[in-house]
Amino acid sequence: MSFKDLQLNRPILRAIAEKGYDNPTLVQEKTIPVVLNKKDVIVSAQTGTGKTAAFALPILQLLFDKQDAPKKGRKIKALIVSPTRELAIQIAENFEAYATYTTLKSAVIFGGASIDPQKEILRDGVDILIATPGRLLDLHKQDLVNLDYVQTLVLDEADLMLDMGFIDDVKKIERLCPKTKQTLLFSATIPYKVEQLASTILNQPQRIEVAQNSSTSKNVNQLLYFVPKKDKIELGLHLLRNTIKGNIIIFRRTKYGVDKLEKTLLKNSYKVDSIHGDKSQTARQEALNKFKKKEVNILIATDVAARGIDIDNLDAVVNFDLPNVPETYVHRIGRTARAGQTGMAYSLCSADEKTYLLEIQKLIHLQLDIIDDHPYPLDPKAKPIIHKSAKKGSKHKKGRKSEASKKKKKRWY
Ligand code: AMP
Repeated sequence: MSFKDLQLNRPILRAIAEKGYDNPTLVQEKTIPVVLNKKDVIVSAQTGTGKTAAFALPILQLLFDKQDAPKKGRKIKALIVSPTRELAIQIAENFEAYATYTTLKSAVIFGGASIDPQKEILRDGVDILIATPGRLLDLHKQDLVNLDYVQTLVLDEADLMLDMGFIDDVKKIERLCPKTKQTLLFSATIPYKVEQLASTILNQPQRIEVAQNSSTSKNVNQLLYFVPKKDKIELGLHLLRNTIKGNIIIFRRTKYGVDKLEKTLLKNSYKVDSIHGDKSQTARQEALNKFKKKEVNILIATDVAARGIDIDNLDAVVNFDLPNVPETYVHRIGRTARAGQTGMAYSLCSADEKTYLLEIQKLIHLQLDIIDDHPYPLDPKAKPIIHKSAKKGSKHKKGRKSEASKKKKKRWY
């Protein structure tokens, strides 16, 4: 299927071509026609599947069709609610790129940044508004946001939005929009609370599921290193010197862990920056920009700070700490091997993380490839018992040969 088959207008097709998109991704193929049909939809898709364009393109198309090109007094006709500032900015950048050859105007508002410039933009009027919940309600209270003309409401990363405690804000925002609007809900996973929200605010939604919640990309080579906790930093440095190359995101569970590792890497002359919740919005954005511009090639992050952030050409994801929620592993490694590319995921597991590893392998129905050949091995007795239902070996042997398959592997179960 091509984008032309999806009946998108020329200005939009031109912008997509300039972005280098040849064909729609699966989530786009499935979602775009439904949105163009003005139906409500629940889409379960992970980041990296092209889900932003799956709602942005048909929204632009619908608005483009109705466009009477007003220069002033534009009304907000599409509202996209996003849980984090970084995600909101990213969505706004996409809208801007896709709308290059239309006269549609979009803007982004988010907390943690000066409110005055955002007020200014709203006073000028926009067709599409991308917002984080708190700042949106704040500006609405000040009568600077009028949601009476919203035709399409998008709730992006709904599961994260609820995890972050935005449920009441989301419900309030939904009530501020007209009853007749179209609502699109996107979520990496669809837990019960998302279902519940959907059942209260969506109208006979069509369901689109693109990937299993638990699936990891077959293009990611997933390697596992057992290591004593005390040697993790040393192993990390060893791997950065010898094995892990290119643009890398390193995940840690805690803000303290992020700061500690950043200091060590800086001392060792690595080009590194970090993002976590205690950093100001400006500092986080700066770190992200530096990473995107390749001024630094290593970004250390906590999960919430990095969720959904799109970084092109990411070569590797390092799970310096294993996540305590297995789905988080899937989100993390979804950051590499985007849009058909291949990527690497390195996981460092200490004895106290063995339960996390078991949960992850159970979820993804896969054993990670163990690399035993490194200078800081873990005492074999400390290794976990494998879950019986996890399949042995990796299902991603196609393409480049895994580092693990070239090395002699000892089984520990
Ligand atoms: P998303 O899941 O929306 O964060 O998108 C992930 C990445 O895929 C972004 O870098 C997009 O620019 C890119 N992308 C989206 N749609 C396509 C497409 N049809 N072809 C190639 N890349 C795409």
